[in-house]
Amino acid sequence: MGDHDGRTALVTGASRGIGRAIALQLGREGARVLCVSRSLASGEGTVEALRSLGAEARAYAVDVAKKTDVRVACEDILREWGRVDILVNCAGINRDNLLLRMSDDDWDVVLRTDLDSCFAWIKHLCSPMLRNRWGRIINVSSVIGITGNAGQSNYAAAKAAVIGFTKSIAREFAPRGVTANVIAPGFIRTDMTAALSGKISGQILEQIPLRFFGEPDDIAMGASFLASSGARYVTGHVLTIDGGMAMA
Ligand code: NAP
Repeated sequence: MGDHDGRTALVTGASRGIGRAIALQLGREGARVLCVSRSLASGEGTVEALRSLGAEARAYAVDVAKKTDVRVACEDILREWGRVDILVNCAGINRDNLLLRMSDDDWDVVLRTDLDSCFAWIKHLCSPMLRNRWGRIINVSSVIGITGNAGQSNYAAAKAAVIGFTKSIAREFAPRGVTANVIAPGFIRTDMTAALSGKISGQILEQIPLRFFGEPDDIAMGASFLASSGARYVTGHVLTIDGGMAMA
């Protein structure tokens, strides 16, 4: 018996890094997991790993930055599965630059991928969840959405907005038994952070009270808790999993 037995979960960004770890943890705990990434080829690895754990899984190729594509995918998914109980919005990108050098495109694509996607998935997927009076929504923000960071104004704007957005829907959905929470990871070892130079990584390490970088599984543990029945009294919360980075 797992915490998520009988639940259907959808995880965006499930092909790699944090989203893959969350998908695997939810599957390990009994959920059927719908895995969204940009291509079926990128998502199949996670689906195979889930099936080898004994979980039911399916890959979906959806560009989360395109609201119409998300709406069409949600219609297909609801037609096939009826309802999604656990929605984890984890897909995200960064396009870092100092503000005066930032292109309009770098601003737009980060806002569309990291923020607008949360709006679209929740709007088009959650009606049956609300009707069922049980649901879990988890939006992945970042410690950067709390602290800000030079060179990441687009990313910080999107991730900060995810927090205000989630608190608002937490209030809207609470009367229907649906919780909405944020996870704000700190520095986690994935493809997104692999590109940072040794010098920058060293500077970041100095800002982490626990003095080590996190792993995707550290985030998956928090997500699995927020998705569980045991978290029924937690909503509108921002769970930082960051080695203490965001402490005031
Ligand atoms: P990652 O390893 O770069 O993986 C990104 C994932 O998002 C991939 O599954 C990718 O799919 C998917 N994705 C990106 N753009 C997409 C789009 N337009 N449509 C569909 N899928 C898309 O990233 P990560 O480090 O695991 O980060 C996951 C989330 O955590 C992001 O929201 C990120 O901002 C947040 N976060 C990460 C860190 C960190 O230190 N790593 C810290 C704070 C917050 P494909 O494989 O198909 O490209």
